[in-house]
Amino acid sequence: MSAVDRYSQDSFKRLLGAVNSVSFRDDTGEVEYFGEKVVILRKESFQLFRQELIRRNASGTGNLILGIVGRSVGRAEGRTIVSKLARETGSVTLSSEYVRNAVEETNLGYGKILLESLELTAKAAGITTENSFEAGPATGPEGNGCFFLLGYLEGLLSELLGAELRGVESSCKSRGDQVCTFRLTRNLESRFKI
Ligand SMILES: [Zn+2]
Repeated sequence: MSAVDRYSQDSFKRLLGAVNSVSFRDDTGEVEYFGEKVVILRKESFQLFRQELIRRNASGTGNLILGIVGRSVGRAEGRTIVSKLARETGSVTLSSEYVRNAVEETNLGYGKILLESLELTAKAAGITTENSFEAGPATGPEGNGCFFLLGYLEGLLSELLGAELRGVESSCKSRGDQVCTFRLTRNLESRFKI
């Protein structure tokens, strides 16, 4: 099972792959997901992390860090997908359908992500999710956003589209909205590839 099998265009194949996707190495106390080392955290850990940051008046810094970490994870995921494409086709030019599958079918437990719009030439994308793992109970307009997920999408789409993208989360379940909505566009001023 190769490290890229987490991504599949075929949900049935995905289901079959899932049987062997996680391996518990009890002798070393490590867990691998498609050949990469991972740790298993309860989803609530993120909420706890966030609550503690708010309690210590550090949510601004915390959100920034979550975004940076998310971007790094998304970028690694994007690189894996692009290199898989290069191996399969000898090209790194992605079609709309390939990008859609890469965004929607890569399941890392972050929620069901939908690519609502994609502009390959302009390098822009609109994304929604109804069940972001980061979204806590709706607390109204002051509720926090999904900073890790936004960063993840920025990193992933930057690699897939071959340009530095940055985004905003214009609606969020934590703020009482129906879905979390992300809009990503090309950031020509971005100097740092994080
Ligand atoms: Zn959200």
